[in-house]
Amino acid sequence: MIIYGNELAASFKEKMKAEIETLKKENKRLPLLTVILVGNNPASQSYVRSKEKACLSIGMENKTIVLPEDISQQELENVVQQQNEDDTVDGILVQLPLPKHLNEQAVIDKISPLKDVDGLHPVNAGALLTNRSGFIPCTPKGVMAMLESIGLDDLSGMNAVVLGRSNLVGKPLALLLQNKNATVTIVHSKTKDIKTITSKADILVAAIGQPKMVKSDWVKDGAVVIDVGINRMENGKLCGDVDFDDVCDKVKAISPVPKGVGPMTVCMLLENTLESYHNKERKNG
Ligand code: NDP
Repeated sequence: MIIYGNELAASFKEKMKAEIETLKKENKRLPLLTVILVGNNPASQSYVRSKEKACLSIGMENKTIVLPEDISQQELENVVQQQNEDDTVDGILVQLPLPKHLNEQAVIDKISPLKDVDGLHPVNAGALLTNRSGFIPCTPKGVMAMLESIGLDDLSGMNAVVLGRSNLVGKPLALLLQNKNATVTIVHSKTKDIKTITSKADILVAAIGQPKMVKSDWVKDGAVVIDVGINRMENGKLCGDVDFDDVCDKVKAISPVPKGVGPMTVCMLLENTLESYHNKERKNG
């Protein structure tokens, strides 16, 4: 079975679009996502464009603030603060990576946890750690939705292995899998004999940024494999961290790259922004 994230994302987006259409009909305020882009890194520009497009596709308001490459830490933090204070803004995302002279973590810390739709603020990271409500980072949230889509909701008794331990993907994903009762192992670049660990996984998620590193002898028969990796090959095409052709006959289900986790990530950003909108509207009565 191939788990197409683009198809799943389309169905999530249909629901959100209908919800926003209802808000429009009722003349209500619409949810608004602010994206802050510093400098002119082409990859970041393209990610920001795809977020704008996604907002448009469901009728969500969006605002992109483009700032010069040489902006100071203080100036950038001031822009974030203005968005924190703007009541019409529901979600704030600072496109990473930032230019080298800027302190990324300090900028993330400046975002109001109530508008941190990327789920990277320490308050939201702490909420996830303690299994409380908060914004969940979009990629891990998308992976969990993909697992749910094939009936994997309660993961009791299952071994899950996460390849990668980044704050953005690996760590939060391991927590989410554990919160669903999986027994989780995290593997990283200092792990010895990775293959022995991955070949015991009922669920294997790869998020290492190593093109086609996961081969069939890394994978248990009948496993579910989710490929988060996005790598550009010499021929310009994208590939994942999993060697899809080598692995696909051995597994029960696998996600492709492209059309896999990527579209779910953007979709979960919209979902988090909508969640933030509803939180705010509830608070305002
Ligand atoms: P990071 O570079 O932050 O983290 C990579 C992780 O993989 C680290 O923990 C690193 O270990 C580990 N790793 C690297 N090489 C190896 C190796 N040879 N063996 C074992 N572990 C290794 O990357 P991200 O987590 O941000 O992203 C991972 C991948 O997912 C990338 O390809 C990225 O493009 C993609 N991605 C895709 C998204 C999507 O929407 N589909 C969203 C976000 C990311 P250590 O900690 O020891 O250095």
